[in-house]
Amino acid sequence: SKEEVLALRKEHLSPAMLYHFKNPVMITHGKMQYLFDERGRRYLDAFAGIVTVSVGHCHPEVNKAVIEQTERLQHTTVIYLNNQIAEYAKELTDRMPGNLKARRGGKGGRDLGRFLVAYFVNSGSEANDMAIMMARLYTGQYDMIALRNGYHGLTGATMGLMGLHTWKANIPHGFGVHHALNPDPYRGVFGNDGPAYARDVTDIIQSSTPGRVAGFISETIQGVGGAVPLADGYLPEVYKTVREAGGICIADEVQTGFGRTGSNYWGFQNAGVTPDIVTMAKGIGNGLPLGAVVTTPEIAATLAQRLHFNTYGGNPVCSAGGRAVLRVIDQEGIQAKAADVGGHLLKGLRGLAAKHDVIGDVRGLGLMTGMELVKDRATKEPAKEETAYVFERCKDLGVLLGKGGLHGNVFRIKPPMCITKPDVDFLVAALDQALSEL
Ligand code: PMP
Repeated sequence: SKEEVLALRKEHLSPAMLYHFKNPVMITHGKMQYLFDERGRRYLDAFAGIVTVSVGHCHPEVNKAVIEQTERLQHTTVIYLNNQIAEYAKELTDRMPGNLKARRGGKGGRDLGRFLVAYFVNSGSEANDMAIMMARLYTGQYDMIALRNGYHGLTGATMGLMGLHTWKANIPHGFGVHHALNPDPYRGVFGNDGPAYARDVTDIIQSSTPGRVAGFISETIQGVGGAVPLADGYLPEVYKTVREAGGICIADEVQTGFGRTGSNYWGFQNAGVTPDIVTMAKGIGNGLPLGAVVTTPEIAATLAQRLHFNTYGGNPVCSAGGRAVLRVIDQEGIQAKAADVGGHLLKGLRGLAAKHDVIGDVRGLGLMTGMELVKDRATKEPAKEETAYVFERCKDLGVLLGKGGLHGNVFRIKPPMCITKPDVDFLVAALDQALSEL
């Protein structure tokens, strides 16, 4: 029973393993955009296991690929040849923008060739950890610039990049990391003026580094930080500045990749930039432990002969599952669906904002959506308790939302991308009811 599981957790699992609800929910199975509890009650999953179940819980095509591969071969490591990892690397990099010509050094710059997979790993943290290591090895520099309010993982190195104190252990992991102003159009000092925020990166390089840097890393929409888009024109300006200082530009696509933003397959494409390294996890495997670091051949070569190794990375089962995810995204037109249903969701949330003063901001792209609650629209004081109430109440009404932001006052609505418009109407109605009860 739920009570027994709770008791076992309390006795045998660290209290650091959180469950999110005051009155926790127990999930026994899932099907596409729905989760079911031990009583068989159905919930609409609007958080997708923290933005991870991209194409649907237990999607039959992904299941089939995983089961077939599990029965054939589960594990060897990359020291033997196997078709899955090689074919997967090709299929994944086929989804990257191909033309990297003249990307570095502007006009007349060198042709850097096609993107390739530097490594398959098992999580977003590992992917980012490796990306910053590669940036440091490639450039011979140590200074990294990350954004306040950003989240890149919880290994030592990636925790050092953390721009959210709520997730930061008080350990000095962040040597050589500089946190730049977060270009948040809603709360930031320069509103939606991206180039104004970008000047902070120039200042950091001039005042706090030798004038050369290892690189810059950011999400293309901040996820854990509360679905915060970066102000218009920010990334192109920063990428230029960082490259002029010899640095590598890293896009953390752990949440924004694989069509989630609807308009493009990758979040960085929405900003009109091409990174030097792209890190991926979460939606890449629909729940399988999988991540990847994708980069240029030249940057990838920095790790050659260094015997870098990841025991499980790119194992045949995860590779087979990852390949199935790519096929499903294409076959089911997932990206177009994210755009269409995401637009419907935004419209619904904006309708709620017209009705409930507690909603300070509604934002998003595709199915990467945020709704921020404030006590007062003028002061923008975070409405943390109200958010907690609505969060818990929506669960009782059959909708599992995500919650985030530095102040815990942002709903993160990032469902499996197979969600339909009637599901969205159900979600908006639940939110409407819970907000009306405040
Ligand atoms: N980058 C981003 C943008 C993330 O949202 C997360 C996880 N929330 C990570 C990296 C770390 O991924 P993982 O938990 O798989 O290590």
